[in-house]
Amino acid sequence: MIYFDNAATSFPKPPEVLAQITACICDLGGNPGRGAHRLSLAAAKMVYTCREAASTFLGAAAPEQIVFTQSTTYALNIALWGLVSEGCHVLCSDIEHNAVMRPLYALQVARHISLDSFCTVDKSDDEILQDIMQKIRPDTRLLVCTHASNICSIKLPIAKIGALCRANGITFVVDAAQSAGHLPIDMTAMQIDALALPAHKGLFGIQGCGVLALAPHVKPMPLVQGGSGYDSRAHDMPPSLPEHLEAGTLPTPAISGLLGGIGFVGSLGLAEIENRTKALFLAARERLESLAGFRIYQAAHAGPVLLFSHDTRSATSLARLLDKAGIATRAGLHCAPLAHAALGTPEGGAVRISFSPFNTLKEIDALWQALKA
Ligand code: PMP
Repeated sequence: MIYFDNAATSFPKPPEVLAQITACICDLGGNPGRGAHRLSLAAAKMVYTCREAASTFLGAAAPEQIVFTQSTTYALNIALWGLVSEGCHVLCSDIEHNAVMRPLYALQVARHISLDSFCTVDKSDDEILQDIMQKIRPDTRLLVCTHASNICSIKLPIAKIGALCRANGITFVVDAAQSAGHLPIDMTAMQIDALALPAHKGLFGIQGCGVLALAPHVKPMPLVQGGSGYDSRAHDMPPSLPEHLEAGTLPTPAISGLLGGIGFVGSLGLAEIENRTKALFLAARERLESLAGFRIYQAAHAGPVLLFSHDTRSATSLARLLDKAGIATRAGLHCAPLAHAALGTPEGGAVRISFSPFNTLKEIDALWQALKA
């Protein structure tokens, strides 16, 4: 199988990651913080090592600011439900994933927030910032946006948006589901208050672990209550991070995979990852442009994600034919209907191919041959 669905989850995983996960399951059998024995302590040590690695990788203030969750979605829900107050105004971009939009829609009903979106498609960084400035109101309390789109390779000027939010007293939440492992992130320098990301995409971990990284002055209310491994008589979750937001047993094997993945990305280097994925994008764009009837969206933004449609074939039928030819893609709306609307894709959406540094130019040729056929 030629795997071009890395924006959904990366595959294959590097041997380093598989080795870490195997070692975790085979050797660190205990539950961190929930056992008076060396296996529990060894697991707790690995978890803390991963907090340290993630904190350094993301530019967080301290390892304790790294909260492990089940997924990006869960991390975003903690940030949004935990930080958005009754009746306030919230801003988001026009290319958000449902992991952002659905909590916001629910907050419109539950907490009567008002919501506005700013435009990113076909806009320069300055135009994006101007649009945000025009939409900021005295009651704007939070801005949430993606760092990089999940349907094309548009990326947002996060550091500039962060500076704007900080200057206006607006909490800044970033969805780094598609940028972690692809683009440099320094949450302190970028003035990000809450950063959500998965282990299983660009960081080459496995499903079951996400990260919510918080700036020291930000403390969302817990979304879920439960055991924390200590302070058992207290009715409330412990006040200090990360335990405040980590109710229940942690996904230790998936955390060990994240530790391996951060190491892998660190040794390969973000610049090399970007070089490889951009080269794949440019080759795919050139091949697709040589075929009649295909349309590429946001073709000027080269990166790990390329979206295309065909004049007469639906996205789902194209993806099905590609699957038969042994090529994995994703068709439809990709949980981002607003982004598809902003890009002007057909009713049934488009086909997404998304690259990892393990893909090759030979595989792009195979895609080209399959599309020609
Ligand atoms: N945001 C974006 C931009 C995404 O691409 C995704 C994954 N498709 C998510 C959030 C949600 O990530 P997860 O499914 O790991 O919770």
